[in-house]
Amino acid sequence: MREALLWKAVSGQRVQCRLCSHFCIIDDGARGTCGVRENRGGSLFTLADRIAALHIDPVEKKPLFHFLPGTETLSFAAMGCNFSCSWCQNYSLSQPPRTGQSPEGQPAEPQDLVDAALRNGCASISYTYSEPTVFFEIMLDTAKRATQRGLYNIMVSNGFQSPQCLDELAPYINAANIDLKSFSEATYRDHCKARLAPVLDNLRHMMQLGWWVEITTLVIPALNDSDTELTDIASFIAKELGPDVPWHISRFHPDFTMHDRAPTPVTTLERAAAIGRAAGLHYVYTGNVPGHSGENTVCPSCGATAIARRGFTLLSDPPHDTCPECGAHIPGVFE
Ligand code: SF4
Repeated sequence: MREALLWKAVSGQRVQCRLCSHFCIIDDGARGTCGVRENRGGSLFTLADRIAALHIDPVEKKPLFHFLPGTETLSFAAMGCNFSCSWCQNYSLSQPPRTGQSPEGQPAEPQDLVDAALRNGCASISYTYSEPTVFFEIMLDTAKRATQRGLYNIMVSNGFQSPQCLDELAPYINAANIDLKSFSEATYRDHCKARLAPVLDNLRHMMQLGWWVEITTLVIPALNDSDTELTDIASFIAKELGPDVPWHISRFHPDFTMHDRAPTPVTTLERAAAIGRAAGLHYVYTGNVPGHSGENTVCPSCGATAIARRGFTLLSDPPHDTCPECGAHIPGVFE
């Protein structure tokens, strides 16, 4: 256990955690909402200091389709999350600390993680699987060292950081995939125990920081799949973040506590993709439907397939930032 960053004393032995937009006030001996930050005698400590998942993934799995496509990324997580989404697909990593269980995992030094990434030919390190905000201290230390050694850093997140947290990460994070789960405050409140507005503010902030940002929305039947809500999400991305920001619309499967509905019909994803394009987005992708043509990058200028994929695998040569058919620029980070 190590002392946490980004907190302040408030009164008596109480502290306020300033890492995410919950801004928990934590009594002595208690933990914050995420369950991995604990007040001990008036100082805040992090329990998220052990690695609970570590893999080498294609960057396409994050998903990032316009950031170093075809490369591998060393990906890791500590346990914990500041959300409790009823459909969480990684709940065994994200949720146990919220029920009072101590986070499990192996100790790992940032330098060892960076060495492992370089030894395995990775181009980047990804902070992913659970919610990296709550293992901020390991993420920041690792990202600093990775930057020094010429690696990129990727954050896969729910986007609920505090502004101060984003500013601390700003010099070291190069790309992010952010879940935009809904455009409804009620859905964020009732299903995630969180709020939408800070996520929208942080997305604007990340764009201002110059990070490469892609958005993922898990489309869930009878929750966020109406034409109105999908249009609201797509219009926000197109108008406030920019039409070149990729939008990944992903297929839901029953998980965690949400077992009252079937997987998302593929026709719903295709409808969502059409809504995204109608809202002005240039790059809309369907996810969790391997083999679907919606995984390909289609040139918005000429309609040719600029980058072909199946699942997380590129089917064409390492792509460049131009359409092979008409030469139009494909935005992103390609080398
Ligand atoms: S990271 Fe967020 S949820 Fe966890 S203690 Fe800090 S403010 Fe609360």
